[in-house]
Amino acid sequence: MHETIISRLARAYERDRLGHCLLLTGGGGNGAYHVAVRLAQMFLCPSWDEPNGCQTCQNIGKLNHPDLSVLSPLPPRFGEGSSSGTPDAEPVSTTLSEDLFAPLNVGANWKITSEQADRLITWAWQTPWQAPRKVAIVAEADFITELIAPKLLKTLEEPPPAVTFLLITSRPQNLLPTVRSRCQVVPIPPLTEDEIVRILVEHGADEGDARSAAMLANGDVWVAQSLTRAGAEGTRRNAYSLIETALDPKKKPVHIFDLCRKLLAPPEGKTRWLPSEEAAIVGEITRWMAWGLRNILVNLEESSEVPEELRSIFPSAKRIGFARLFSWLDEVDRIHEMSIRNVSAMPALFALAMYLRDDRRVFRETDGSEIAAFPSLTWWPSL
Ligand SMILES: [Zn+2]
Repeated sequence: MHETIISRLARAYERDRLGHCLLLTGGGGNGAYHVAVRLAQMFLCPSWDEPNGCQTCQNIGKLNHPDLSVLSPLPPRFGEGSSSGTPDAEPVSTTLSEDLFAPLNVGANWKITSEQADRLITWAWQTPWQAPRKVAIVAEADFITELIAPKLLKTLEEPPPAVTFLLITSRPQNLLPTVRSRCQVVPIPPLTEDEIVRILVEHGADEGDARSAAMLANGDVWVAQSLTRAGAEGTRRNAYSLIETALDPKKKPVHIFDLCRKLLAPPEGKTRWLPSEEAAIVGEITRWMAWGLRNILVNLEESSEVPEELRSIFPSAKRIGFARLFSWLDEVDRIHEMSIRNVSAMPALFALAMYLRDDRRVFRETDGSEIAAFPSLTWWPSL
């Protein structure tokens, strides 16, 4: 996987042309953590290129090597109240140590703390324990804030000898420019369909399910995994029923509102979701809405290929036509993108459904003048 990139970087390393700070863009869904670990093996183990990997390489694969450190965002109040004296296992490192392709589900309110940055810098200045070099992986590097950036920048500018920093993000546009400018950028391209199928099947997915998820995941194994995950079926049905209700002219806005509320209702025994959990639900629903809409769009001319569960939506979608379906998809993708950072769940879902039905009545000023051609989330007060 990504062998071309890895061997290109290996050649650059042999010729001493590799910077001490690499920024892997493309993110975990494209397999960037797999690439980072292969590079860590290259830096830390002389026999990294041998098939099957030696014990050292296997340990590095589990992020368990004294000359490898991982800096990653932590949830709020992480480690408070731990009394055992040993630090709690950090969620991102724990997930990656078990599975380099697992979705990381980092919340918008997670942080890389100042103490973490201090610890990493101290570690970086110590001489390597076993290997000739040290490697620091900065996971989800766009979580580096202005608060901790100066410390890290100083280290990146005058780096300790024999340390390579590997910064990883799927959102390079959110990375502080001062950080980005000190890195050598290595774009990690999307995975191929076959690669995604292989990963999903290794994770226990059925081959047929894996194939259809891979086709719709745009090369992102995180997306593909959420499409094949257990329980995904319920969310998928919810997403489709939201499209269907929005399209049904007999349904009033209040019906749509009630459905949105139902979709966001906490499960029995839980009084309410946290805002970040609600945003994650919006993320899942919009992902499935996008899947449904893409499926309808590519089959618009020939309905026999539309999956069974989308058939009831198909006639109204066909009436609406390609251009408008396409603009829907844009809007669904936009809300999905917002849900990753944070979004007020109820207004987002409701406004999205109203956008799909092209309902202008609701969105007028008190004097009756039209606020916008379509209800656009940009003027929704709480967003
Ligand atoms: Zn090795």
